[in-house]
Amino acid sequence: MSEGNISYLPTDGLSYDPNEPKFWDKAALDKEITRVFEICHGCRMCFKFCDSFPKLFDLLDKTHDGDVHKLTAADVEGVMDACFQCKLCDVQCPYTPRDNHQFQLDFPKLVHRYDAIKAKTEGLTLRDRVLGDPDLTGKLRPGELWPGEHDEPCLRPPLDDGEGAGHPPRQAPARLRPRHL
Ligand code: SF4
Ligand code: SF4
Repeated sequence: MSEGNISYLPTDGLSYDPNEPKFWDKAALDKEITRVFEICHGCRMCFKFCDSFPKLFDLLDKTHDGDVHKLTAADVEGVMDACFQCKLCDVQCPYTPRDNHQFQLDFPKLVHRYDAIKAKTEGLTLRDRVLGDPDLTGKLRPGELWPGEHDEPCLRPPLDDGEGAGHPPRQAPARLRPRHL
């Protein structure tokens, strides 16, 4: 990442639009990561939403003397990978394009851009391929891969009440049962 003071204003690497060639430029992305991480480091409002922000703040506080420039590629990857796109930070953030703020900060979209460039350069992981394909995930049910598997007795006992359907009858805890039961 580049050295020097970090302005909170958008860099020339800002892009949230995959149709812009700049969106796919790794050097442009790095400028924005540095800027956004620096703003979040100063703000810290989103510390409670997920693991991304605590990871970032811990790295800066405990490992890198508060210097965003010292974050390694592995550090950045750890922060990005902890985001599960819940968008809570975007709702809370006062610096977003939605609010017409001059910082134009959109953390989830920054993560999206990071993931998109990573997928383009390194390919998708098996996990991403499986979870990103609902049809394939559906086929991974045992009955789809091995027809008849649903009916195998070894898979049924926890669900079978011996009369052909449903769960076995449940008993109330002993202390709630009448004495004759
Ligand atoms: S969108 Fe990502 S970074 Fe933002 S709060 Fe949700 S998980 Fe965390
Ligand atoms: S996303 Fe916005 S509100 Fe959340 S820590 Fe960063 S600057 Fe603060």
